[in-house]
Parts: sequence; structure tokens; C-alpha cells
Amino acid sequence: MSTFNSVLSFIKAGGEPSKDMITMLLAAQGSQANTLLRAADEVRRTSVGDIIYTRAIIEFSNYCSKNCLYCGLRRDNKAIPRYRLTSEQIMNSAAQVASLGIKTIVLQSGEDRYYSSEQIAQIISKIKEKYDLTVTLSVGEHTFKDYRLWREAGADRFLLKHETADAKLFRYLRPDSTLNQRLQCIQWLNELDYETGMGNMVGLPGQNLDTMARDALLMRRMKAKMAGVGPFLPHPSTPLKCASPGDLMACLKMLAVTRLVLPYANLPVTTALRVLSPEEGLKLSLQSGANVIMPNMTPLSVRENYVIYPQKADLKDSPQEVFEDVKLQMQALDRSLDTA
Ligand code: SF4
Repeated sequence: MSTFNSVLSFIKAGGEPSKDMITMLLAAQGSQANTLLRAADEVRRTSVGDIIYTRAIIEFSNYCSKNCLYCGLRRDNKAIPRYRLTSEQIMNSAAQVASLGIKTIVLQSGEDRYYSSEQIAQIISKIKEKYDLTVTLSVGEHTFKDYRLWREAGADRFLLKHETADAKLFRYLRPDSTLNQRLQCIQWLNELDYETGMGNMVGLPGQNLDTMARDALLMRRMKAKMAGVGPFLPHPSTPLKCASPGDLMACLKMLAVTRLVLPYANLPVTTALRVLSPEEGLKLSLQSGANVIMPNMTPLSVRENYVIYPQKADLKDSPQEVFEDVKLQMQALDRSLDTA
């Protein structure tokens, strides 16, 4: 048996992977790369099953106080119209999500201090009270007190992608923060018993296989319950506009490795990957370890202004149309959809 196959079998069987082992898997090419993706698909089937879970995303504010080099929402980008949904508009979106039978809502925004912690807490408790939805927050770095307030208000999950495990690269890409600060937030979220999601970007300028292997091991060490793995996509109004986008196969291999190191985690098909490969991104992700889809149900009047990267998918369809499309695509793949 080749070393590659024995490493793969070892990790599939629950062995503790080393950084060198993960790097070897990420370096796979040709038929070995396909073997890796198939192995992740098998692990996904035996650990979390064939069902695809749906989470509806509502992007409620595109204001951000931070200036991450790769992100179209960065505070220095004056080229996009900014918007904030009111509490009432957020509740209307939650009503739409509930009416479609979807049980999980993801409230996502830039780091926007306009909404007070109490306001966010009120929105969470109202959504729980009226619609009994599982509430996932994706609102960035905050204090332990804020996270605790929102948890007490009923928030169940929190997505806080770590983006890269390389502290230097992190500091360069996210000048307003540090990797340590980010990991502290993730640690707090774990302490508060959120279902915590992490994740990285593939193809970041300055990244290499070693960095990505550290990403995988970091997510395993922090016991991430969800992990978003998507490509870096250069946004034309950012300092990284001339950088090359992440590569599809590199993303799929990272996704597959993430499934191997986090067999029971929920791994979404990232929108960025669907933008990178509109034809095949969804299908290939679902065949490489992913088990969650996150249709965008942000009100159409503002959706096109939430541009972390350009050419987002799902820009023009109403929430109903987005959901119908998701159902059709799942049927075509012969996978069943669950809305829990
Ligand atoms: S990545 Fe997040 S924190 Fe950074 S600029 Fe974009 S929205 Fe703001």
C-alpha cells in the first residue's frame, strides 16, 4: 500500500493525524486527489448520513468597522451602497424562512456596532418566541458579555471563521485583529456552549499547504462543530484585487480533509465555491464531504450590496425561488433535504 493510502486509511479509522500527514493529503494530485474526495464522501455518509441540511442566511447589515484586505465590506470601500435592516425587516425575513419550513436562520452582518447588544438579543428572543427557529449568529468578534447575552437570549450557534491559522498572515489580512483574539472569541463561544463554526479560505496570497494543514488541525483541536471552507476570491475594490482566486481542486481537497478530521461536523457548501464554479461547485462540494446548504434569503432590495467577494450566487431570486432551486438541485443529486 502506498504511503498516501495508508495515511488516508489511518485517518479514516480515527487515527490522530499529524501535520505532515495532512500536508501529504492536501498535496494529492490526479487519481490520489480523487481518492481523497471519495474517502471524504464515505466518511460523510457514515458519520452524518445522506441528508442535506438547510440554513437560511439573512445578511442584515453590510456596514463594517473593520478593514480586512480581502473583503468588499471593508470600511474603506466607499464603492458600495451600505444598508441596515430594521428589527422589523429582520423579523419579516424570519417569518419568510419559517413559512418555507426551514428551521434554521443565520443572522449575518459585518462588524456593525450600530445595533446594540440588547437589540440583537431582543431580535433573537423574538425569533425564538414567534417561530422557534434555531438561530445562528455570524456577526464577528465581540466581548464574552455580548456572546453570553445572545446565548441567554436563545442563540444556538455561532459562525466565526478563523480564516487562516498563520498568525502573521492573519495579521496582514485582518489588520484590526489578531489570530489570538479570534481564537479567544472561539474559545468563549465554546465555553458558552454554542455550536461553534470555524473555517478558512483557500488560495489566500501567502498561504501554502503547511498553513492549510494547520487550519485543519486547529479546527480539530478547537472541536469545531461546523466548518466553512471556501476559496479566496479577489474583490475589485480591495487591496487584493490583483491576486489570483483560489483553485477549485485545492478547495475540494481542503473540504475533504476537513471532513476527515471533523467527521461529525456540519460542513456547508460555501457560496464562494459556487461562485468559483457555478456549474459544478454545489455537486462537487456535496461529493467531497459537505452536508449543508445555506440559501441566501436576504431581502432582494439589498442582497446585491452584501459583497464580501464579487458575483455572488443567488442574487436575483426571491426566498421562495432560491428554496425551490435548492430542492430541484438536491433531487438531481438524489440526496434528500432536511430543513432542521
Ligand atoms: S471579513 Fe468580516 S470583519 Fe472583515 S471587513 Fe469583511 S465583514 Fe468586516
